[in-house]
Amino acid sequence: MASIISRASRAAARLRRAGIAIVHWFDTDYAPRGADKLRTAPDQVDWVRCIPFIILHAGCLGALWTGWSPFAVGFSVAFYFVRMFAVTGIYHRYFSHKTYSTSRVGQFLLALWGGTTVQRGPLWWAYHHRHHHQHSDEPEDAHSPHVHGFWWSHIGWITCRRNFPTDYSKVRDLAKFPELVLLNRFDTVIPILTGIAVWGLGWMLETFVPSLGTTKWQMLWWGFFVSTTALFHGTCSINSLAHLMGRRRFKTTDDSRNSLILALITLGEGWHNNHHRYQSATRNGFYWWEIDPTYYGLKLLSWTGLIWGLKPVPQSILDEGSRGGHVTSVAQKSAPTHGDFSYATLKRVVPTAAAMAVATATVAPADAPVKTGSPAVHNDLAGRPQGYSASATPTAAYPSETACG
Ligand SMILES: [Zn+2]
Ligand SMILES: [Zn+2]
Repeated sequence: MASIISRASRAAARLRRAGIAIVHWFDTDYAPRGADKLRTAPDQVDWVRCIPFIILHAGCLGALWTGWSPFAVGFSVAFYFVRMFAVTGIYHRYFSHKTYSTSRVGQFLLALWGGTTVQRGPLWWAYHHRHHHQHSDEPEDAHSPHVHGFWWSHIGWITCRRNFPTDYSKVRDLAKFPELVLLNRFDTVIPILTGIAVWGLGWMLETFVPSLGTTKWQMLWWGFFVSTTALFHGTCSINSLAHLMGRRRFKTTDDSRNSLILALITLGEGWHNNHHRYQSATRNGFYWWEIDPTYYGLKLLSWTGLIWGLKPVPQSILDEGSRGGHVTSVAQKSAPTHGDFSYATLKRVVPTAAAMAVATATVAPADAPVKTGSPAVHNDLAGRPQGYSASATPTAAYPSETACG
């Protein structure tokens, strides 16, 4: 009898959790027992909560059913980069790090653009990213490949119940704007509208320009599902691969790296070691040869007056990078503090990453490094002025701008 009651209560608890997860599809702040309780949940996949995420991936199969057309595939690629710019230039370099300023209206418009990426709300994104910088490659880091392994850092952490809530106390500078909180709370609205808009564009092309051979369903599968799924994995490559492949210029306390391939995929985010060393700069490519299309785009946007006050890389950081050359990985030397991590094992588990690294001759040197304790590494984030920056005055142009073209 007791076991029946026990089974019934477990089933009821599962049902209750599933019900909450379904409500979360539409209202991400719904937490009848408090968000803190959710944040203490174990690192397990919440399958019900992830159904929309699974549908996003499964939707790519629709492309097999409809076939393709040059316009649909071209749109898919273009939409990937337009929204990758939103991820990197807006969610990352504005909401997470405030590396430039804008007006309140401008901030809202940027948040709308960011919403089309289907990477949840701007406050959720900024909260998790700031946490990553504060605990990079430490046990608290939600997506460190050195602590949690490649797949968990790439995709697993985002499926976990504990990582769904936004801790608004950690993003007070953003949470004071109700319009941003609203977008963050109902973070599926913009993605759904985006999908409908892409489908609608396809309908218009099919109806009015049939010579293109593009249908509304091609546009939905290619233009929205394939493009968005690729965008998701492109973004996640920074969480996973950017701490595994590439070279280290700065002796940061984490294992962040610089990679040209990742920079091309993510419009400049691949200069991740640079960024971990100094997070307040608008650009991640610190030198003219480090391609950073996001920065170029933000520079163009600044000429329209929508944004201003792009923050430069201090000369002292540039000099430090020039002096230091490339430094070795901290992962191998500090393996005991990272559980059972082994770089050689990781390369076997992630052959793609290793192959890409070898192909670009950017594999980390094998010599064991010393994990440095430079206190300055995270200081610029900790010391980042909190609060809305609309009143900030434009700063001087970036010092080495002329060298960057
Ligand atoms: Zn990182
Ligand atoms: Zn960052």
